[in-house]
Parts: sequence; C-alpha cells; structure tokens
Amino acid sequence: MPEGDTVWRTAQRLDAALTRHVLTECDVRVPRYATVNLSGNTVDSVIARGKHLLTRVGDHTIHTHLKMEGAWHVYPRGARWKRPGHQARIVLGTDDAVAVGFSLGITEVIGRDEEESVVGHLGPDLLGPDWDAAVAAANLAAAEDRPIGEALLDQRIMAGIGNVYRNEICFLRGVDPRTPTDRVPDLPKVVDLAHRLLQANRDRAVRVTTGDRRPGRRDWVYGRGGKPCLRCGTLIVADELAEEPGRERSIFYCPNCQPLR
Ligand SMILES: [Zn+2]
Repeated sequence: MPEGDTVWRTAQRLDAALTRHVLTECDVRVPRYATVNLSGNTVDSVIARGKHLLTRVGDHTIHTHLKMEGAWHVYPRGARWKRPGHQARIVLGTDDAVAVGFSLGITEVIGRDEEESVVGHLGPDLLGPDWDAAVAAANLAAAEDRPIGEALLDQRIMAGIGNVYRNEICFLRGVDPRTPTDRVPDLPKVVDLAHRLLQANRDRAVRVTTGDRRPGRRDWVYGRGGKPCLRCGTLIVADELAEEPGRERSIFYCPNCQPLR
C-alpha cells in the first residue's frame, strides 16, 4: 500500500499537469459515475489529504485512493500507456496531457462541499499544511492498549503512514510492533519521528529511512525478514499483525533491538 509520501508526490504531479487547465476529456470508468462529464471545466487544484487524493473541478471533487495496487500516471497526449487500458478507472485529459488512474481502490465524484464526508475522519496529516503534532500525540495516547504497530496505521490517529513506515518507526524507537501503545515510551517522540521521516522522503523518488541510499540498505527492517539486522546482526523476524481476522499485514522487527515490553 502506498505511503503518504507517494500519494503526496502523486498529487504534485497531477497538480502540475492539470491545475489551471481545461479538461477536454473526462472518462470515469466506474458504472455509478459513467455519465459524469466534467469536460469544459477548469481544474482548480489537486491535493493530498493523508492517502486520499482530491481533484477539484468546478463544483465537483474527484476523490481517489490508491489502496493496494492503484497508481496515477501522467502522459503527454498521444503517448502509449504503461498499464493495460482495462485497469483504467478514470481518464482526465487536457490539450497537452492525459492523467490516467489505474486500479484505484476508490474512484468517486462528489460535490466540492462534500469533501469532509470522505476525509473528515482523518487525524492530523503528516504532510498537510495543518499538521498538528500535539493532536496526533494525544490521538496516539488514546489508543491505550492497542498494539503500536496497528495504531500507527490508523489514519484517524494521524494520516499518511503505511506499512513501510510503521515498521521502520517501531525499529527506530526500539519497540516491538506488538507492544501496547500505552507501554511505548515517549509517544510525542514517535509522532515527531513519523513527521520527520515522511517530510525527509516527500520529494525523493527512493524512500530511505536509514540514511543509506545503497540498494538493500535503505530500510532497517521492512522487507528484510531472515536477514541480519543492520544495527546488531540478529536475524529480522517477519510476522503478521492483524487488528481483526483477515486484515493481517506484515510486520518486521529485530527481536534484539526491539524487545516486547
Ligand atoms: Zn538489531
């Protein structure tokens, strides 16, 4: 699942391609919105809110979410698409460019005044202009005995963290992801770390949490199950953590650097 920084960069690319341009093509390939046609309207802005994308066109907002497999591509008009056409959920064209949303988890067209209904539940946005560390820390504290690894993924607590960051944050704070949140020392520092990591990676094409850009050394634990910890050499454990059955997501941790409290 894309992290907030990926979604932020996607919004930047879409904004550069579409904002202040008139849509000459608007093809929403979702049955419910198949008759919606925003052609002839000017795109006002494209912004990210947490991992949600809001494309504002006149009185409407196109709300999309990448979920697991989704991606927005921007092509010069006439260029060949890099993913199959049947995966396209929405196509927005201007005189110069075509933006295609492939395999999006959410594609819906709502009224501009209805945005709160789709992003109002989000906690402070780690990459948003209204980031509020104190509110995020208070939200995290309210998670009480939920595992910290689950609480970090809860977009209502703070918005933007995906599976890579939640694992890396737990490593960098020295806590096992299964640790009850109320036993994690210094939650404001956890929040501050999350903010710094996403900010640092916001404009980078390659995500790095270790400070080492070499392949295989960019993450401390994520995706490194069975490999030696980059800090102590202990083998990294790969496991699953689920808030509810059927929603298991992979966790990675070093049992030596991240003791269970
Ligand atoms: Zn270690």
